[in-house]
Amino acid sequence: MSEEDKIYRLPDALERKGIHLKCPICGQDSFSVSPQLREYIIPAMDKNKNYNMNVDLGNPIYTLVCNSCSYVLCFSIPIADSIVDAFDADE
Ligand SMILES: [Zn+2]
Repeated sequence: MSEEDKIYRLPDALERKGIHLKCPICGQDSFSVSPQLREYIIPAMDKNKNYNMNVDLGNPIYTLVCNSCSYVLCFSIPIADSIVDAFDADE
């Protein structure tokens, strides 16, 4: 699988299942995936350590950016991967 294919794996799987993404802000349906912003981690605050940031508790995120208004949709990478794998197994 090429790097380009990996970038679009989640949006393609959603489309194949009839899940048509629409921006919740402007209603448009055109999104971009930036290789640089494709995967990042939202750190969590650790309540057991004075609410300091803890990247180990964070959530890896996959993002799609609305081409019309720049709103960012975020998807949990571990959960998205398991959903895409289940979609692929059904086909
Ligand atoms: Zn939008």
